[in-house]
Amino acid sequence: MIQTINSVFKAQQAYKYTLRNSNATQRINKLSALKSSIQLYEKEIYAALQSDLRKSEFESALTEVVFIYSEIDYAIKNLSSWMRPVKVGKTITALMAKNRIYYEPKGVCLIISPWNYPFQLMMAPLISAIAAGNCAILKPSELSSETSSILCRVIEECFEESEICCFEGDAALSTHLLSLPFDHIFFTGSTAVGKIVMEAAAKNLTSLTLELGGKSPTLIDETANLDIAASKIAWGKLTNAGQTCIAPDYILIQESLQTAFLEKYKAAVQQMFFTETGELNLSSYAKIINEKHFNRIQGLVDDALSKGAKLPYGGPANKSTQTILPSVLTDLPENANIMKEEIFGPVLPIIPYKTIEEAITFVNKMDKPLALYIFSQDKKQIQQVIKSTSAGGTCVNDVLIHISNPKLPFGGVNGSGLGSCHGQFGFKTFSHERAVVFQSTLDMSKLIYPPYEKKGWVLKWLRKLM
Ligand code: NAD
Repeated sequence: MIQTINSVFKAQQAYKYTLRNSNATQRINKLSALKSSIQLYEKEIYAALQSDLRKSEFESALTEVVFIYSEIDYAIKNLSSWMRPVKVGKTITALMAKNRIYYEPKGVCLIISPWNYPFQLMMAPLISAIAAGNCAILKPSELSSETSSILCRVIEECFEESEICCFEGDAALSTHLLSLPFDHIFFTGSTAVGKIVMEAAAKNLTSLTLELGGKSPTLIDETANLDIAASKIAWGKLTNAGQTCIAPDYILIQESLQTAFLEKYKAAVQQMFFTETGELNLSSYAKIINEKHFNRIQGLVDDALSKGAKLPYGGPANKSTQTILPSVLTDLPENANIMKEEIFGPVLPIIPYKTIEEAITFVNKMDKPLALYIFSQDKKQIQQVIKSTSAGGTCVNDVLIHISNPKLPFGGVNGSGLGSCHGQFGFKTFSHERAVVFQSTLDMSKLIYPPYEKKGWVLKWLRKLM
């Protein structure tokens, strides 16, 4: 495998110079071929997602496949204008020059992806890499093996390996890939592995994008519409059984609303995820990816309960179906592990606050989150929260939906990531912005050339004009 990787990497390093000259039509054809290949394997992709995560076809279509079709269509529609060099203004020291920003491909890129949205989290950066004219090596997650294998077939169908190539494997394979001098690395995964990737990238001074995780808080203030908040949070928390990087991780709620919110949340969850006879509807509710994560989430609940937290909703987990019931924890002690790490499961801690300042301080004590949600009808308070905190992205009176608009950048900040993706932001991530100045032969540069003794007046003139 290592030898094959090395020879593919070498072939891509050679081919990147040809690809660099590709025009918009050629790149659009590649994106169209990718879309056709996905369409060809669409049924197999749904079956793989069902097998890896028990995702329903509806959920897979909505959050993985249709999402990718629209990302491809958006890139196809806008690629010519993204690729066009951008004109920028002149400086006083080069009045006759034309100044442009060229978007040149980074070259050969490595894309490493996680298991929770195993199809779209590989495809979305790949679309941007192709749009920007790059070669790429893909390393999907070994934990979602069925989807990873279909994904590699989709790629083989429409690309030569000297352009795009997919390798299935685990951390050991990743480690070898990370030792190669790629032109860019795009990593989606945990913060812990993100640090390993950044260290490896530093050795080759490779530029990188990190799409990481973390604890995304959801604030509910005293003016919030609780019906809306409860149903949006139930959907956002429990889609993919909470295994979503931007799922609401925990709730900070004005203390007078806690009881009412809990009742409404329970009702919303029952309506969405349970049958009329009160059983969990497994056809709409994903499983936990594997036993290790199942035990990890269960361990977080047990730890919290052993330290005095209460479980007003939820109950026993089912190991044989790898299912953890939608659950709520309250009365959390400060030392509960569940408030120290990303939950990545269907358990919702609720923490009451007295004043909005107290809630803001709570958020700011933790790493900057990937998402921060606010449920409120008080415009002043909404602005106060936005301005007093930092987060990768924010929705007001909703959750998750900012990821679906390609006109918005998607990414984290510090602990939750570095750089952004989707739409033109993804195109720029996989491009180098190259400054190009076309100087006129009528240029006036000699005004600033030495000898300097008689050039005092030039400096005075420049100072006035600048
Ligand atoms: P992970 O970091 O364990 O694995 C991600 C990828 O890195 C996998 O392909 C894996 O094989 C590889 N990997 C694992 N260990 C490695 C190592 N030591 N060296 C090199 N590569 C290694 O993450 P995961 O469990 O697959 O995914 C869950 C995490 O991803 C969560 O923290 C979640 O928040 C985050 N996530 C972030 C986003 C985002 O867009 N920001 C999206 C989805 C998931």
